[in-house]
Order: sequence, then structure tokens, then C-alpha cells
Amino acid sequence: MKQTKYIFVTGGVLSGVGKGITAASIGAVLKAQGLKVSIQKCDPYLNVDAGLLNPAEHGECFVTKDGAETDLDLGHYERFLDEELTQASATLSGRLLRELIADERAGKFGGKTIQLVPHLTGAIQDAIVTASEGSDVHIVELGGTVGDYEGLSYVEAFREFARQIGRDRALFVHVVYVPFINTSKEFKSKPAQNALNDLRGFGIVPDVVIARAEKQTPKSICRKLAMFGGVSDDAVLMMPDVGSVFEIPERIAESSLMPLLNTFTGVNNSPKLEDWSNLVKKQQSTKKHQVRVGLVAKYMDNEDTYLSVTEAIKAAGWHEDVGIDIVWIDAEHATKDSFSDVDCLIVPGGFGERGVPGKIAAADYALTHKVPYLGLCLGLQVAVIAAARRGGLPGANSAEFDANTEANVVYIMAGQEGKESTGGTLRLGDYPAVIEAGSKTAEVYGATEIVERHRHRYEVNCSFEKHIYDGGVIVSGASPDGQLVEFIEAIDHPYFLATQAHPEFRSRPMRPHPLFVGLIQAVDKDS
Ligand code: GLN
Repeated sequence: MKQTKYIFVTGGVLSGVGKGITAASIGAVLKAQGLKVSIQKCDPYLNVDAGLLNPAEHGECFVTKDGAETDLDLGHYERFLDEELTQASATLSGRLLRELIADERAGKFGGKTIQLVPHLTGAIQDAIVTASEGSDVHIVELGGTVGDYEGLSYVEAFREFARQIGRDRALFVHVVYVPFINTSKEFKSKPAQNALNDLRGFGIVPDVVIARAEKQTPKSICRKLAMFGGVSDDAVLMMPDVGSVFEIPERIAESSLMPLLNTFTGVNNSPKLEDWSNLVKKQQSTKKHQVRVGLVAKYMDNEDTYLSVTEAIKAAGWHEDVGIDIVWIDAEHATKDSFSDVDCLIVPGGFGERGVPGKIAAADYALTHKVPYLGLCLGLQVAVIAAARRGGLPGANSAEFDANTEANVVYIMAGQEGKESTGGTLRLGDYPAVIEAGSKTAEVYGATEIVERHRHRYEVNCSFEKHIYDGGVIVSGASPDGQLVEFIEAIDHPYFLATQAHPEFRSRPMRPHPLFVGLIQAVDKDS
């Protein structure tokens, strides 16, 4: 049986400098060499999953095909590796501790003392083995920075794991940050040196150091980091900010790290990264024209909240060779002027009432003025509300926003009542849908049977289909049993499509999702 090799990606100095992109890019390079790559994010939080984390603080909650509610880094991984991941790729302390404590309560430890070491560290190692099954190389990224109190069990688990499998099967990559001091116009390597010392203090000598910096750093910085990191100069990669994150796989492949990675994996061929260079070329090319995409959003101060949506929009733009301006429309303060200022509208997913009237107004505006519209999950629900109100039901609403309305055109699924504020009770992950043959939706997909990822609790109430129809909207796709509305579209409209799912999670930089491409094309044709 082949033996999986493991790459551990940790961070020092600061988090949020691109550790996830680095891990994903290393994976993309190895995949482009023909290796089977798997990847996993370890988050030291005491949360069980990312489902209840505040998106304004943590960014989007990414959903996998098997319904895991995860950190947005899994979205980076899927986009870079073009692989569909599962719950096994999302490890959180809360999840592991919950299982450990349940086992302790069930008497499975036979009276032993349960401790972070060896029990939590053991559970972490088991999770790594599970996530890596069947792959040539498994990449494990640790959230936060080494030295964080919460992450220590992971660092220890990685050290033990590497010791056990043999150091030739483990590669430690430490991603550090090198700040530039504007007043003295110099880079400072001291924080990175300290971060490398910290890592060594926990018994891990890195094999590779990746140093992020705002701009190109002098060679002397690289030499200093090599010396203090205990690695050769070739094992240090200075990584200044780049125009597009999709350049990073190529940068890695062209760097001095490549021979080192080849020695580690035992695979020598040059990675086939033409698709990546073509993508970067497309991004940089002069565009036919600009498309202004209005994103009717609730969270205005953290763009990561809608990361997969914005990535899906941009991917459609590259595909169509048009420039994209994402215009953030604050749903709470949106007016007709905000809607008329853009070429098309997207209402993304969301929970809770804040901003909902503005989102309904956006759908209504798109219906009235025949502006291309794409509704994603909540974006479908507000479109249904807008249509029903136009169709003679002025009080139409979702039970999520008005629990007592009789015109509950969107309502709670049977069996879900009373669970509104707890995690893991949503309809999550992949569900199939059957699309009405001959509909615009079927035309856009080029198929009538599709699968999309979901994350929602409320459903369209089909007893109001007549009002919705009178408002100009039809159901164009449903669950295979015909019970749940999955797609709607407007009659006699250039492009007004909405889905109960989150197609943005399946969009890829080189294979954009048809619903987003369709939206951009609808603008294209009109202009
Ligand atoms: N809040 C809505 C629901 O629970 C929509 C969810 C979403 O947009 N992801 O059904």
C-alpha cells in the first residue's frame, strides 16, 4: 500500500496573510504533477462547526457537499484543487472535544484520566489519518499562529505525528510575515525570527519558510530567515503581494521550493499549470467592457462574508471576457437609485430580518425594470415575496421575518419548528433537483437534472403558487419528489433566475457556474 506524505502548514507573526491560499496553492502544484492531494483545515476554536460563527467576524460559512458548515478556507481549497471536500477536511476543537467527552461519559476510557495530551492530541492525529485516506499527499493547515494558547494541542499533535511516521514523510511549512516600516523604509525580519524560534520551542524545525510581505524584499531578509529558521536559503520563499492569488501556484512551481517538494514527494515532473497561466492572462487582458454587478448585501464591512459569491461573479467575468465591478449595495439603505446604477443584481443568502425589505425591493425592481437578477437562497425567497406582493398578496412574507403572517409564502419546513437558533438543523449539503424542460433555468444549465449545495431552513409555500404566478414568476425546478421549490424564474424577462441552493460553492475559477455566466451574458446581450 502506498504511504501518504503529509505537509503541515502553520503560521507565525500574524494570521490572515494568506496561509490558506499558500496551502491550497501547494496542493494545486502537486495536483498538477499528477499526485492525488487531500487537504484539511484544523481550527482550534471550541465551536463544533462554523455554522453559528458570526460572518461579519469570520467571513462566509462554506458548505461542503456532505453538509459540513466550515471555514471559508475550504472554499479556497475547493477552488484551487477543484476537488469536492467533506466534513473530514474540517477539524475543530469543539467537534473533537465533544466526541471525547461523549466517550468519557460512556465509560469508554475505563477509568483513565482524560487529558489534552494524549487524548485530544490523539483525536487530532486520528482526524488527520481519516482525512488523508487514499491520497499521495495530505496537506494540513492550522488556523491562527503558532503559540496561540488554543492551538498548542495541534502543534504537539503534528510533532508527535511526524515523529511517528518518520520525518521523511512529513514536511513542515511555516508561513510568516515580514513587515515594512515606512518611516525608515526597511523590512523587519525580527517578528518572523521570533515566530521561527517559537515553532522550534515546540519541537518543530520547519522544512520550508514562506515569508509574506507587502512588496519585494531584499535577499538579505531571505538569508536571515534561512539562518534563524535552520533551513537552507533555497527553502525560504519570499512571497510579496501579487495582483491575483491565482498566480501563486506558478510562483511556487518556478521557485527554489520546487526541487525541495520533488525530493519530498519523489515525483519529478514539471507541474502542468497552463490552465493557471491562461487564467491569469485572462484576468489581465483588456476587457470587452465593464459589467456593474450590484450585490445587495447586509454585511458591508467584511467582503469575506460573500467570498464564494464574489469569486463566482469574477469567474463568470473572466469566462465572458468582461470586466467586473462589484457594486456593494447596502440592503438596509438601498433605494431605486442604487438599483438603477448597476447592470444586474444579485441577492445573496442570509439569515434574519435585517436588510430584507431592501432585498425584496431589489427583486421587485428587477421584475419591474427587467434588470437581470440572480437570487441565491434568501435571494429566491425575497423574489417569491416580491412576486406574491405584485400578484395581489400585499402582506406576503416569510415566516422567518413575520411568524404570524397568514400570507406565509415562505414558511418553516415541517419538523424544523422551534430549532431556529441552534446549529446543525438546516437543510445542508447536496440535494438533487429536477428542472422544468424548456425553462430558462434548464437552458442556462443545459440540463434538467442537477445537484446543488444547500444551507437553509425555510421553503417556498406552494399553496401560494397562483399569487406568485400572477406576480410574473414560475417555479422552474423542484426536488425530485416535487415537494420543495428549488428554482424560480420570471416569465417574459431577459434573466430573472433564483435558486434555493448556493451555486456559488460549486463555481470554479476555470469552470464558472452557469447561473453566474448566464447573468453576465444577459447583461452582455443588452449592452
Ligand atoms: N434564512 C433563509 C432560510 O433559512 C435563507 C438561508 C440562506 O440564504 N442561506 O431558509
